[in-house]
Amino acid sequence: MPGLAFPPGTDLLQVLWVPSNQVVSGSDAVQLRWRRSSEVRDLLLAPPEPAYVPAAYCVPVPCVLHPEPVREFPSRHHLDEDLAARLTAWDKQRAKAPYWHDLSVAPGWKAGGWPAHFTFRGPPEPDSDELRCGECGSPVDALLTMTGSEWDASTTSWIPVECGDEAEKPVGLPYRNPRDPTQVEIGRGCTLQMYHCVGTPSHPPRFVMQ
Ligand SMILES: [Zn+2]
Repeated sequence: MPGLAFPPGTDLLQVLWVPSNQVVSGSDAVQLRWRRSSEVRDLLLAPPEPAYVPAAYCVPVPCVLHPEPVREFPSRHHLDEDLAARLTAWDKQRAKAPYWHDLSVAPGWKAGGWPAHFTFRGPPEPDSDELRCGECGSPVDALLTMTGSEWDASTTSWIPVECGDEAEKPVGLPYRNPRDPTQVEIGRGCTLQMYHCVGTPSHPPRFVMQ
């Protein structure tokens, strides 16, 4: 995954989760395994199905990843009020989709980058424990973003070139819908942001639905 900050000595991250509602509540239903790919021996071509699935919408449809580095800009809660106001004024001049949709925070599944927008709730207070590691109290940083779709009507500037209207469609249509290849559903149109401990990346991650 280009750009992902791996802890020293690792180059592979496995995210293991129990497909249940506990995933979104940030419990130990999720584990991070930072590994060295050269130590991986027997690849399972057909991964075993989970024995019990309480929430089918938490089981991704197997997909092929085509990671693409993109440049994005911070969301509103990372900007001071003056800069946010200047951006709003600039938006009015350029007659395009708003900065918040068009340039800031790429939608869809993502590793690293800026944390997602807060939609149905506000960001945590600066002195809140919500964005601190539960093990050691270190700050946490955005690691993975999981969401229901790669783009929507307001974020069409982020559609990958190969999925655009002009693009030649792949033979056999491998995904039911290229806008939602994983078929994972997070709440109702929400984003699940996984934050990992900056001090010790193997500590259990924090989750915020936003
Ligand atoms: Zn920690």
